[in-house]
Amino acid sequence: MKNKLYAAIDLGGTKIYTVLADSQGAILAAARLPSAAALGPDAVMQQMAVSVGTVLDEAQLNREDVLAVGVCAAGFFDWQEKVMVSSPNLPGFSGVALEKRLSSLLGLKVLAENDANAAALGEARLGAGRGCSEVVYVTVSTGIGAGLIINGRIYRGGRGFAGELGHMVVKPDGPVCGCGRRGCLEAVSSGTAIARAAKEAVNQGAATILKTAADGQLTAPAVFAAASQGDAVALSVLQHAVHYLGMGLVNVVNMFNPEVIVIGGGVAEAGETFLSPLSEIIAARAVPPAASSVALKKAQLGVKAGVAGMICLLAETDG
Ligand SMILES: [Zn+2]
Repeated sequence: MKNKLYAAIDLGGTKIYTVLADSQGAILAAARLPSAAALGPDAVMQQMAVSVGTVLDEAQLNREDVLAVGVCAAGFFDWQEKVMVSSPNLPGFSGVALEKRLSSLLGLKVLAENDANAAALGEARLGAGRGCSEVVYVTVSTGIGAGLIINGRIYRGGRGFAGELGHMVVKPDGPVCGCGRRGCLEAVSSGTAIARAAKEAVNQGAATILKTAADGQLTAPAVFAAASQGDAVALSVLQHAVHYLGMGLVNVVNMFNPEVIVIGGGVAEAGETFLSPLSEIIAARAVPPAASSVALKKAQLGVKAGVAGMICLLAETDG
């Protein structure tokens, strides 16, 4: 009898990353396609179907060899109604029944999930949180996403919207967030927020080497690079962002007593300067017994975390 195979799709605003894997998460084939998000849901659905065909071709297998397909995407996915309520990167997806539409296109069972939830499960089962049942996953990139693994399972809350650490209010009078509200963690600690704070400092005439990389070039990586050269403004911008990320994590530790917090995403990858102070902030600010029993780890699966989590979820759902 053949090993059970699953396809998993990480649907992003610019790319679709699709893998074909067995129930243990071993990847047989992978494909990266443009997501065609600007063309709307029909085009994106077609691209996802093409990506599944691509990985099957690469592995020289047929649709009948696949038990089910998992898809994860950024956004508020209503787990009860199986409908995408809203997605920041996917225009026109509000109200789209992701599972139903992809399933009718592929002729296969489809399971959908929020991307941070999927990545959290991937890291908990196969990555930095392996062996732990209480895992918080936080991804810091252009935005801040998070997923909670409680008692070994994804914690979704009432309808699937739990774990929105990025929108935890940490600075009530702080900048306006992409969600329209003020003072969210994402508005002060994400890559976008770091770049914006650096631009503000440059515009105010602060003495910094960041001036040479002004305007469009002033990205979070440029701030990290300047900080590594000892630039005081860059260091101050990063310190501010790390401080508030630390406050968010302190609240998470106090609330959930996780065994491990796994930090992923481009910004976290970029610099040890960003990660190392977080442990100190947690040790100083969280309730001592919880603070002393939590480990802070760098994510291990990178861009594969979401699809790895979807494979685990499919395998565990199908039994
Ligand atoms: Zn927000």
